[in-house]
Amino acid sequence: MGDIPILQLNGLTKSFDDFTALHPMDLKVRDGEFLAIVGPSGCGKTTLIRLLVGMEDPSGGSIWLRGERIDEIPANKRPTCMVFQSLALFPHRSVGQNIEFPLKLRKTPPAARKERALELLALLRLPEEYYHKRIDQCSGGERQRVALARALAFDPEILFFDEPLSALDYRLRKTLEKELRDLHQRTGKTFVYITHSLEEAMVMSDRIAIMRAGRFEQIAPAAEIYARPTSSFVAEFMGEVNLFDLRDGSGDLLLTGAGNEFATRPGTLMIRPESLRILGPDENAEISMSAQVSAEYMLGSRMQYALSLPSGKAITAELLRENADGPKPGDSLRLGCAASACHLIPEG
Ligand code: ATP
Repeated sequence: MGDIPILQLNGLTKSFDDFTALHPMDLKVRDGEFLAIVGPSGCGKTTLIRLLVGMEDPSGGSIWLRGERIDEIPANKRPTCMVFQSLALFPHRSVGQNIEFPLKLRKTPPAARKERALELLALLRLPEEYYHKRIDQCSGGERQRVALARALAFDPEILFFDEPLSALDYRLRKTLEKELRDLHQRTGKTFVYITHSLEEAMVMSDRIAIMRAGRFEQIAPAAEIYARPTSSFVAEFMGEVNLFDLRDGSGDLLLTGAGNEFATRPGTLMIRPESLRILGPDENAEISMSAQVSAEYMLGSRMQYALSLPSGKAITAELLRENADGPKPGDSLRLGCAASACHLIPEG
């Protein structure tokens, strides 16, 4: 039954006394999907995942796993598994004993347990000798891999992750991000992954759910959220962006041709910094503006410019670093882009 979602939330809510942490939430997760849940601190991500794994009871609504209601089933009876930031491994036991722990609970015979543990070590790209190594002799990254192997040994229907990489250093995090995505593809399991890092969510997931103050603001693949955010909050959350409120007229913008359509539609016009280019003296664009460069920053292959518009509004543009004589602070210039490179957020 491919069309029954593996996980479904119907009007799920959570209140603490008179504070509503989660407003009624609806969600469907596809079997085998990698869904990232992203949002600023305090928006309710941890509360949501605690409800999903059964560490907390909902105040209303329901949770369904493959069409069966699970919100009344205790956490230890649910076919789901949580991978935490704090690893909860047994530090004085061996890697093998840690991975085999769930299988021991299920009374799997020792030989079959060891076979599975070695398979999981290989899947997580840990050397076979690590089977006998003690956890407190493993590095942070190795422990994270062991924790993942142990989670997979449970053979859960869904793996929930609560910021599992946030305590690791930048390079290791980047490596494990890619490994997690690989692991997701190789196992075909459903992953629901909480993070406050949008970058992490974009690298790994099939879809991103952006949360704000106890609600889903937008749920879509990363590319769609980036190009067509449904609110200014999402647009700003998805990286550097220039937003122009069209309700007071187009202000600093000169609109021609297809750009004119924005003059008559109220809302917020979004222009990403990388969509803007410098216009030559005789060059025109459907959307253009005069600007003065206030600062420049090197981003490796690209340059980022802070500019101010005639009204005093500050904007950002990003250009490829093609030659040394790009614009300098103090220079006046014109910037432009095609109407098709912009997006209108139709919000009030
Ligand atoms: P962070 O990224 O900082 O971990 P979060 O998105 O995971 O944040 P939650 O921990 O889910 O946020 O908290 C959501 C809101 O619910 C916060 O305002 C928090 O203060 C509140 N909250 C969470 N747990 C409780 C509780 N047990 N009692 C009262 N309020 C709570």
